[in-house]
Amino acid sequence: MSAPVQPVQSRAENLVRRFAEVYGETPDGVWRAPGRVNLIGEHTDYNNGFVLPFAIDRSALVAMRLRRPGETGEPDVVRLASTYAPDGEELSRARFHTGGLEPGGVGGWAAYPAGVVFALVRRAGVVVPGFDLLLDSTVPVGAGLSSSHAVEVAVIVALNELLELGMDRPRMARLTQYAENEFVGAPTGIMDQSASLMGREGSALFLDCRSLDSETVPLPLARHGLEVLVIDTRVVHSHADGGYSARRSSCERGAAALGAASLREVPAGTSLDRLDAETRRRVRHVLGENERVLQVVGHLRAGDVAGIGNLLTASHASLRDDFEVSCPELDLAVDAALAAGALGARMTGGGFGGSAIALIRREDEERVRAAVRGAFAERGFREPALFTVLPADGAGRIRVTWH
Ligand code: ADP
Ligand code: MG
Repeated sequence: MSAPVQPVQSRAENLVRRFAEVYGETPDGVWRAPGRVNLIGEHTDYNNGFVLPFAIDRSALVAMRLRRPGETGEPDVVRLASTYAPDGEELSRARFHTGGLEPGGVGGWAAYPAGVVFALVRRAGVVVPGFDLLLDSTVPVGAGLSSSHAVEVAVIVALNELLELGMDRPRMARLTQYAENEFVGAPTGIMDQSASLMGREGSALFLDCRSLDSETVPLPLARHGLEVLVIDTRVVHSHADGGYSARRSSCERGAAALGAASLREVPAGTSLDRLDAETRRRVRHVLGENERVLQVVGHLRAGDVAGIGNLLTASHASLRDDFEVSCPELDLAVDAALAAGALGARMTGGGFGGSAIALIRREDEERVRAAVRGAFAERGFREPALFTVLPADGAGRIRVTWH
């Protein structure tokens, strides 16, 4: 069984206490940014297409305190600590300076907060003073639930408020994308940050990645007696890895060959015959996936949550066979969940590892869990981590009182 998730309020209170121990000061505030699950719309974001993620009830919390003018020490130094630390260590600590940041200049996990500072300085002309930061996250790292964006989004909402920048959420989404693309060097799209920033409890976020228009769509799982079970295969994926870039290039090549600026601009019914076989499969996935997102949105708007199951499963088949970004562990997770009664299942996130999701009836949860565990054990795969998630609110400040 996975450990119960501690309520956010008490996590925030602990974080404030811990902050005082680490830095000897009280933080200016605590901010929360959730991870996300992508319900459907995979590898469509960088093709200007549709996605339907939801923010989850697992989040990064940051406590932050800006360095005051005239305080002793270097005014632009950022000190960082995270509770996600190597075995035997209590905290993972790092530091950098807000002045003169350049891509490649900050390594390890500090690259994510530094990337946000870099984006604010370079793209928005903000003067960012030094600060102290303490991070605690319940988003599993590297599971495809966007733990990295949770960190970036928590940092940008904190700085937006403390520096009174008045930026709206789409702007913060673009800036964190810039941070991840240009500073961290991961060519990711706009979906993950948008979900973390704009999610709503009980809803999914229907996002048009071309216009960045977004709309919440009801996803009342509990009312329908349903759950989304995450199956973290614990196979480590890496976006920087060639597979992701190769897929992006295939899509760009396909769009160009079809005379379109992006795959979003390819009219329905266009013949794909002129494409080579591999590019045709890649393009077919993206066009079909956009269509499936629209169909899922239609079902959810009509109140038919269970009806999306087959579309989730069709998405997985397309990712496995046409886009070829699945792996044996993800396929097994999906097959085992379906065989045990899941209404639908698919890999979620970029692929090559990470997590699958299964839409299940609450009464089937134990059976599906046991079936997935059993199937993994039988194949000699590493034991997967299983937990359910609920659609949660996007990032924001947590009010904490302390004395
Ligand atoms: P994911 O799918 O989880 O986003 P990534 O590889 O994109 O996987 O990001 C994981 C990286 O994000 C970690 O290696 C680490 O650098 C950073 N990260 C995420 N959560 C934390 C945390 N709680 N503390 C420190 N670093 C974190
Ligand atoms: Mg990530």
